[in-house]
Amino acid sequence: MRIVLLGPPGAGKGTQARRLAESTGMTHLSTGDMLRSEVASGTELGLLAKKFMDSGDLVPDSNIIAMIQQHIDDPAGVLLDGFPRTIVQAKSLDKALDQISLPVDQVVHMAVDIDELIRRLSSRVVCKECHTPYNLELDPPLESGICDQCAGDVIVRDDDKPDAVKNRMKVYEELTAPVLDYYQLHRNVAEVMATGTPDAVFAKLTKAIGSGAPFN
Ligand SMILES: [Zn+2]
Repeated sequence: MRIVLLGPPGAGKGTQARRLAESTGMTHLSTGDMLRSEVASGTELGLLAKKFMDSGDLVPDSNIIAMIQQHIDDPAGVLLDGFPRTIVQAKSLDKALDQISLPVDQVVHMAVDIDELIRRLSSRVVCKECHTPYNLELDPPLESGICDQCAGDVIVRDDDKPDAVKNRMKVYEELTAPVLDYYQLHRNVAEVMATGTPDAVFAKLTKAIGSGAPFN
């Protein structure tokens, strides 16, 4: 099973995708986490990606697609988080999946209120070492600035800082919102209002995924 999770930055896609992966056994493919680990390892892709990510821009499609294709046929099923972000990526994904007869089974759109979104992004922090996410309002680390899991530094990611956030919202509107239009033309999209506590959102997502809303 291949599920695409769509939504603006800060909709809680990452947190929810991790929980869904745990509860379903599917593999969570986060392009953001995959890219950040490339950056941390200083690979060629990582160095290239960092330039784009720090300014809130998107890493070029060809790099992302090559990275995703290595994992897309995982027999456990995959939960795509942060991909596709552009029409070109959505079409490339459909093409790659058609070739191996493993279509996207479901698209879930996590919708948010823009004012709530901006407030949420400004309170979001992450461990520099192990990528555990925290929320300064809902779920802060026990000791300020220090990861509960590994004692690493808990920081605001460069791409969550105010100027980068504004740019990401602009990029989202220009490039990712049309991806939703594309999927709505081609298959059923489950709509989930991603407001409320993480538990409430998780319950809504589980219900939406359980209901099927299959491809075509
Ligand atoms: Zn940590």
